[in-house]
Amino acid sequence: MSGEQTVADVLLLLPLARTYTYLVPEALEDRLQRGRQVRCPVRGRQVPGLVIRVRPRSDQDVMSLQPIGDVVTSRPPWPGDLLDLVEWTANYYLVPVGVVARTAMPGLFSRHPPKKDPLVVFVRRPEVPPRSLRDRALLALLEAAGEMDLNEARQAVPQGAVSVKRLLAAGCLRMTEREEVPEVPGPVPPPPQASRVTPTEHQTEAIDRILEAVRKPRYQGFLLHGVTGSGKTEVYLRAIEECLALGRGAVVLVPEIALTVELQRQFHDRFGDLAEVLHSAMSQGRRVRAWDRVLAGQVRVVVGARSAVFAPMPRLGLVIVDEEHEVTYKQQDGLRYHARDLALVRGSLAGCPVVLGSATPSLESFQNAHIGKLTFLSMPRRVMERPLPQVTLVDLRYERPQGGERLFSEPLRVALQATLDRGESAILFLNRRGFGRFLVCRSCGRSLQCPNCSITLTHHRRPERLQCHYCDHHMPVPDRCPGCNSPEVEVVGFGTERLEEEVQRLFPKARCGRLDSEVSQVGALGRVLADFREGRLNVLVGTQIVVKGHDFPQVTLVGVLLAEQSLAFPDFRASERTFQLLTQVAGRAGRGDRPGQVLIQTFDPTHEALRHAANHDYLGFAVTENRIRRERGYPPHAHLAAIEVSGPDGVEVQRTADEIREVLDQCVMAAGPEGRQVTVLGPAAAAIERLRGRTRSQVLVKAGRRKVLHDLLRQVQNVFGDGRGALRVTLDVDPYYLL
Ligand SMILES: [Zn+2]
Ligand SMILES: [Zn+2]
Repeated sequence: MSGEQTVADVLLLLPLARTYTYLVPEALEDRLQRGRQVRCPVRGRQVPGLVIRVRPRSDQDVMSLQPIGDVVTSRPPWPGDLLDLVEWTANYYLVPVGVVARTAMPGLFSRHPPKKDPLVVFVRRPEVPPRSLRDRALLALLEAAGEMDLNEARQAVPQGAVSVKRLLAAGCLRMTEREEVPEVPGPVPPPPQASRVTPTEHQTEAIDRILEAVRKPRYQGFLLHGVTGSGKTEVYLRAIEECLALGRGAVVLVPEIALTVELQRQFHDRFGDLAEVLHSAMSQGRRVRAWDRVLAGQVRVVVGARSAVFAPMPRLGLVIVDEEHEVTYKQQDGLRYHARDLALVRGSLAGCPVVLGSATPSLESFQNAHIGKLTFLSMPRRVMERPLPQVTLVDLRYERPQGGERLFSEPLRVALQATLDRGESAILFLNRRGFGRFLVCRSCGRSLQCPNCSITLTHHRRPERLQCHYCDHHMPVPDRCPGCNSPEVEVVGFGTERLEEEVQRLFPKARCGRLDSEVSQVGALGRVLADFREGRLNVLVGTQIVVKGHDFPQVTLVGVLLAEQSLAFPDFRASERTFQLLTQVAGRAGRGDRPGQVLIQTFDPTHEALRHAANHDYLGFAVTENRIRRERGYPPHAHLAAIEVSGPDGVEVQRTADEIREVLDQCVMAAGPEGRQVTVLGPAAAAIERLRGRTRSQVLVKAGRRKVLHDLLRQVQNVFGDGRGALRVTLDVDPYYLL
């Protein structure tokens, strides 16, 4: 076996778990490098792939290696840090590397790379000079020039196309693609100072710290905590300017591109054609063309939703994750990755700073800042000294809603009436998803929780009972509160439609619009928002969707109908999500000149998420919640994974889930002392048990150490793979929304 031979490890665009090794033919050697797109033989077909590494052949390689078929030179090589990220992602989320590549590089493999002008190149003189004078003339021209554009050659002599064809056939010329020389991106000077807003003191401090990091080409993570309206975007824009001035590129992740029209406008104003916004609705073709502009260095700022973390930005100099706490960064199906987490990994692989920004940072990021993995920057005030709105908690135990559907307490009814009388507008917020009924005690205000998991029990009608979706604990609906023994227990929960009807009935002046997942088709959404902004509607009823980054200056009242609907969500992050939602909701009030007022109806005004949201106290909340998570053994103090089993046959699903539990228990036993810090919960029916005709069941695994968790998951994967037949076994590492 020769040590002289060069081989390449190639990532083929097939759902394969590993890369494959091919011989590098001598003719291709100078053009082949890491990140190059290639075509390789697989069972007689040429399959597209990416070169992950080029290396000398070793004794470990199999004897019969096949040669690489072809190198695509019309597209520059993919950045090395992106290739590293693809491999890292496959390893961490336990998915085949080819599957990651398909998410990271959609369509790029299946489509042909951009066509470049073909060239004709002189090869040799023929043994016998061509009979045609025109052929002879063209050959002489090409011999002198060495090469020519095909079109130019065709026009060099009369009927040149025929001559070119004859000379190619005789082997005197050959055709080739023009070699792509990647444009080396030059520095972009920042715009003149005068055209920009003057940053506040806190903005200046954050900007200075981040600019310092941008100038050093190495990884540093920042957590930028800025209250709603504190001007985080300006900080981002300044950091990107610096990055461009240094000849590097930036990637900006936003939670949902459709809801960030304002941010997009600012990026276009500031960076023009250098910035490209990637929409999830973009056709594959347009996305591929956009990424080709990125690869070629024509686009230097990419703004996009979670998949933009895989943007092929050469010379990456900065990654920004706006609203880093948003759950939309976690992909829930297919490759279940978390874009915020991958953004940090990408930054460390590329050697550049990463800025996570939020008014309500996630507990994961808070903990990372706490232990010094992220540098904490704070912007505690709104720009232009606008006050934060006044938040009042309305205790439903004393302010019992009267009349009609009993949704409005007296304080909220009076406040809404007064708002409408003044000709101003209101938002009424309700956090309700597909299921949302649970038991609440009207005396002590607590909702009933699972004794094992501290997760709110969900009410089911058939058979009527309360159920935990983590550990499957269930119980009949009690007629007394287990906490305070009061008989005043009640199943509560309602939806936006009922609320809309009630508003129309109680408030004759209300012109009410509704926004929830049913009205979220882009057209309808835009219409309702426009009607509200322009005053044709004066009350907006909705779920989460109403709080996402819209500015309505005329809104002076925000009402939250029942905070428990969010708090009682069967998820260990329910408190955190509630705090985030309420802070965002409150941030919608009083964005204009008039002060805002927020009323939150609740049975339990002592709840830490509500108390701290009312006081605009993020740190207070984070410290308390962090302690609770540690006590209960949930992230960020433990590592969590969900193993979901789904299939059309409920019995088979249950049996497989039980088998998985058995395998896990055996592995935990075998792991000895390390196994003691592992908890296995379930199998439990998923909260939405039947989805699209499939029964779902899940097993949760908690472990103190990441490695222990990954070892267990690999063993499950070895036994069960990804399921058999119609049955699916799916691993979700760091799951969100265990539904
Ligand atoms: Zn009670
Ligand atoms: Zn439980």
